[in-house]
Order: sequence, then C-alpha cells, then structure tokens
Amino acid sequence: MEEVTTLHGIGHLFMTIFLYCFSAFIVAPTITDVSMAALCPGKDECSLAIYLSGFQQAITGVGSLMMMPLVGSLSDKYGRKSLLTLPMTLNILPLARDLWCPETGWRLELISPYVSVNTTLELKAVVLDCVTGARDRVAWKGSADGQFSVASAYTLLTHSETPRPDMNIFFRRVWSVKVPERVRVFIWLVSHQVIMTNVERKRRHLCDSDVCVVCKGDFETIIHALRDCPAALGIWNRIVPPRMRSDFFSRTLMGWLYETLKDGLVVDGVPWATTFAMGLWWNWKWRCGNVFGENRRCPDRVRFVKELAKEVWRAHEQSTGQGRARIHEERQIGWVPPREGWFKLNTDGASRGNPGPATAGGVLRDRDGRWCGGFALNIGRCSAPLAELWGVYYGLLLAWEKKCSRVELEVDSELVVGFLRTGISESHPLSFLVRLCHGFLAKDWLVQISHVYREANYLADGLANYAFSLAAGFHFLESVPLDVVSMFEADEIGSTRPRNIRM
Ligand SMILES: [Zn+2]
Repeated sequence: MEEVTTLHGIGHLFMTIFLYCFSAFIVAPTITDVSMAALCPGKDECSLAIYLSGFQQAITGVGSLMMMPLVGSLSDKYGRKSLLTLPMTLNILPLARDLWCPETGWRLELISPYVSVNTTLELKAVVLDCVTGARDRVAWKGSADGQFSVASAYTLLTHSETPRPDMNIFFRRVWSVKVPERVRVFIWLVSHQVIMTNVERKRRHLCDSDVCVVCKGDFETIIHALRDCPAALGIWNRIVPPRMRSDFFSRTLMGWLYETLKDGLVVDGVPWATTFAMGLWWNWKWRCGNVFGENRRCPDRVRFVKELAKEVWRAHEQSTGQGRARIHEERQIGWVPPREGWFKLNTDGASRGNPGPATAGGVLRDRDGRWCGGFALNIGRCSAPLAELWGVYYGLLLAWEKKCSRVELEVDSELVVGFLRTGISESHPLSFLVRLCHGFLAKDWLVQISHVYREANYLADGLANYAFSLAAGFHFLESVPLDVVSMFEADEIGSTRPRNIRM
C-alpha cells in the first residue's frame, strides 16, 4: 500500500512522460513523410527515404546509449541541479567575441555585472591583439610563462587543499647549513630516509637481521643509528647543551632534523646547526667504520667533532667575509641626456602588490633635457612586468606620434628589456603586449633599448606613482606636472643618486 501512495505523489511526472511519448509517436511517422516528400515526391515507395529514416533512428539510439550514462555520471559528480543550471546559464551569457570592440576595447558594461571589481580591473590591463594578426595560442596554465614542464604538471596534480607540512622550508634548512657539501648531501639522504640501516637492508632481503650490530639492543632504524644507539648517545650527551637535551632526544626523525637545523642558535661561537650536522656525519662515519672495520684511532670523539665544527665555521666566515667586501661598490647614478640628434624616452611601470593596482608613466626629452611630452597611465590591476610593458608601449606611441626618428629607450626592468630585445615565447601570458611593442619597433625609425638603474629612471618612476592619483586610463602630459617638477629639474641639472652596485 505504501508504494502506491508514493507513486501517487509523483503522478504529475507520468503525465509529462506521457505527453513526451505521445508527441514522439505523432512526430516519428511525419519524419518519414517529410523525407519521402523531399526525396521522391509523388511516389508511394521510396527505399532511400526508408533507409534514411532507419539511419536516423539508429543514430538517435546510439546517441542516447552514449549520452545517458555520461549525463548520469556527471550528475552523480556535480549534482543534478548544477547540471540543469549549466545549459541555462550558457544561454544567458553573451559570447566572448561580443565583449570586445576593436576600436574601444572591452565592453565593460556587458562584463562587469557578471564578474568582480578586481576582474574588471584586471581586464583593463589586457587587450586583444587585432593589430599584428596574431592567432589564438595554446598556453599551459600551470606555470608562470605558459610553458609546459613535468614539474609544474606534478605540482598541479598533487595540489591538495588540506594543509600539509611545507617541505620546502625543511629542505631550505638542510641546504643552508654551513657545512661541507658532502655533509649536506648526507643530511639530505637522511631526510629522505634512504640511508642503509639494517631495518632497510632486511626489508630488501639483503640481510637476515634488522637488529643493531653495535649494541644488539634494538632495531637499527635511522634514528637509532644516528641518535639512540649507545655509541652515538654517548657523544650526543656531551655535545648537546643541557637545556636542549630533553627536546633533542624525544623528537621523531624529521622533527629532530627540522628543529636542530634551525638557524640562529649559537653554541660556543659556532652555529648549533653546523655542530649538529658535523656530529651527525661523523657518527655515521664511525658507525660504518665500526661495522666494516676501517676506523682510525680517535681518542676524544666529542672534542674532535667540536673542533671540526669550529674549523668549518671559521672557513665559512673567512670565505664569505672577504667575498662580501669585494662584491659591492657605491656609484653615483643619474639621468644622462641623449646623443646629438636623438631623443630619450624613459618609461616605468608600478604595481602595488604585484599583482595589484598598477600604473605606468613615461617622458620624452631632447638633447638639452627639455620636456617634449609625457604620459601617466592608470592601468587597473596587473603584475609589475605587464605594467612596465604598458609603459613601453605608450612611450613608443608617444615618441612615434611626436615624429622622433631616433629614440633611446631606457627601462629599469631587465626582464622587460630581455623581452623587447630577444622576444618572448608564444605561450607567455605577456606575449600579446610584447608583440604590440615589436610591431612599433619594426616601424621606420631607430629605437635603441637599454636597461638603466632605477636612479637613472627617476622621473618615469615618479610619473608612474603620480598616475595612482589620476582617473583610470591614459593621460597625456603636455608639460611637466607639478608633482614631479623637482625630479625633472634634478635630472636637468644632472644631479645623481648613490647606488650600491654588485661588482
Ligand atoms: Zn645500537
């Protein structure tokens, strides 16, 4: 009885199905009639029409055979509601090509109701290239430059939302301990738990016993061999300062390595991480010597480790101490006027947050440092390199419209200078703007691109900062704006700013 009541509740569904089947019954013969009328008008028999109808039925059958399980499994995964919503939403959304107007750019009035304010601002920084004839390109989303790499694919696949310990910090500690390279490699092997202790050897059927051959009192795990075996314990007990002992001997292998390799702790004038790493290495060496019978005499192993750690640290300090003094030198850097007959274009871009609110600025000056035009651009939201490139693009536009035939272009981003000089890969997210700049550079004029330090690009930097106070879009500056007059005058009289340069 209960089943009947349940079915009664969904009676209206049967009505729908009835109507659907009824209409199908009416339509199906009509299809044959229509195709007969089209293929062989006036005849009672037409084999072609019958074949065609049969073929159509077969296609419909195969289609539903394949679609039904697909629709079923998709609705299992995403829920039926979203599966129903999807086609409806797609109907409402306008097509991508309707959102771009070649003359005025993005039709933001159509876009902004559907996306966040930030996305609107990000779109403002991007243009569709309808000028250079570039076509759509395939780019890999998993990397910054759009190029596929196995490493990025692995990161993408193993990406998990649940928080995990960040192993990068751990391995950065391992590789920054101040000890000889072979010791670092050893610690790296230990942290991957791949050194051959008896437990590991037995697991691989290389020996019969997983018991420690030195003390015969426990399984020879990694932590036992390096810390808990009496042979090592005796040495650690005299090296580890008393206040650190309880932590030192209670941690698990990874926690033990991670905490003791921490930077900043100094014991007896030597970083504790260095002493610890040397102790770890020699404990292992002595152990191997013990097992394989190759040990030389060492009357006081504790003193030996401490002395060695001191020596390692002294050597490290000496090599870097001398190096540091040599590699930096202070220089006076300032803006230099262009050669006779040339104009100088300085451009710069700024992004607060990278990516974040972004601007660009640029200035064109002649041989005597006179202002020949400038601009400030409030872009929207983008990364710093994109902002720099916008600066270059509008700078070139400005110089071209001013009919300069020889231009020295100065940018303070080495990355951008590299893009402009040697090009950029097709799949790079910034390639659209680099191509537009290349389009300009290929015109009938001379443009020399060079990288300068920020101190020589001070005015362009100032203009980019000034643009943050302006409305969104491009602002042509016929004369020097008040905000940057002092910077302009400083350049004009050839003043310089100090900079530490790595030699
Ligand atoms: Zn042992």
